[in-house]
Amino acid sequence: MKVINTIETMRIWSQSIHLQKETIAFVPSMGYLHGGHLSLIRKAKSIAQKTVVSIFVNPAQFGPGEDLEKYPRDVDRDLILCKNERADAVFLPQKDEMYSPGHFTYVVNEQLNNVLCGRRRPGHFKGVTTIVAKLFNIIDPDISVFGQKDAQQAIILKNMVKDLNFRTKIIIGPIIREADGLALSSRNKYLNSSQRRNALILSASLQYAEKQFASENKNMDQIKEEIIKKINATPECKVDYVEFVNAETLLGDYNKGDKVLLAIAVFVGETRLIDNTILTC
Ligand code: AMP
Repeated sequence: MKVINTIETMRIWSQSIHLQKETIAFVPSMGYLHGGHLSLIRKAKSIAQKTVVSIFVNPAQFGPGEDLEKYPRDVDRDLILCKNERADAVFLPQKDEMYSPGHFTYVVNEQLNNVLCGRRRPGHFKGVTTIVAKLFNIIDPDISVFGQKDAQQAIILKNMVKDLNFRTKIIIGPIIREADGLALSSRNKYLNSSQRRNALILSASLQYAEKQFASENKNMDQIKEEIIKKINATPECKVDYVEFVNAETLLGDYNKGDKVLLAIAVFVGETRLIDNTILTC
């Protein structure tokens, strides 16, 4: 497995793979890898001849007062995990090379930047689209693999690929959960044992909505109110948002039979966790 630290070396590696007429699948990450990331690496390996994982805690997607400094990092462990998954290359760029002085060019989705997580985290998706566009330009992947866990990110990036004519195809992998339902996340590390227990309210809320839909109660306003009540009644938990939106557009327009995304964000103590499920209305 190649560990690559510079943009130039990454470009040369990718070009050499393409010269051999092999395909590259790319899994971007911020590291502190868990089973969710590993499932994406496995998916990447199953669909392309070569797999590249990037590990970069992207400062541009953290707002003031967010957890950039304390975001968990363990590159040595990450490299072992990537090697165990038989990734072909890991791209570990340096912050100063990715954002050199005088970097003033950003990529923004002007519509979806301000809904769901975008509304609660101003500038977040501008940081995401910019870093992913840069990584696409450096790595030139045939396929890029993202997780449904970050549903809004997945849709914004699909739109970016379409709008800016990137060559890569985007594949979305399912949400990987702990046995008790908690979606895997690098931020779960912040939870103490009582918060870890209380955090189950996220997946429980989604299951509640799934059950209601299955029993033909599709009154989304009522379900949303019930979920907000349940979350805010859970110790240490506070709703950031609970929203039903069209699963394709992320907007509030849906008709009977459409797929709707139920997306939730909850503060458990200081830690902000997100989760989602797709239902048919
Ligand atoms: P991150 O390191 O948080 O930037 O995530 C890197 C990629 O892993 C993104 O495409 C995420 O959507 C994906 N991911 C994070 N958590 C999970 C999970 N529990 N299941 C599946 N994919 C995930």
